[in-house]
Amino acid sequence: MVNKIQADCPKCSVTRTRVVCTKRAPDGVTIRRRRCVICDHRWYTIQYPEIAVSNTEIKWVGTGSNARFTPSA
Ligand SMILES: [Zn+2]
Repeated sequence: MVNKIQADCPKCSVTRTRVVCTKRAPDGVTIRRRRCVICDHRWYTIQYPEIAVSNTEIKWVGTGSNARFTPSA
């Protein structure tokens, strides 16, 4: 199984990892269970969908670390 997304092993930072299973949540978030082929470490990665929205659909509120997006009415 070829996976184009780079997910280095958090333990030994090898790039050769294997996806054990993939689960897609209803909101589009993909969770992958990964296993390192070298040190046998197991961990999860989460892939969020990237969706383009028009500027009229979203509103930027606040500045700096307090800033957040809110759906505009
Ligand atoms: Zn490893």
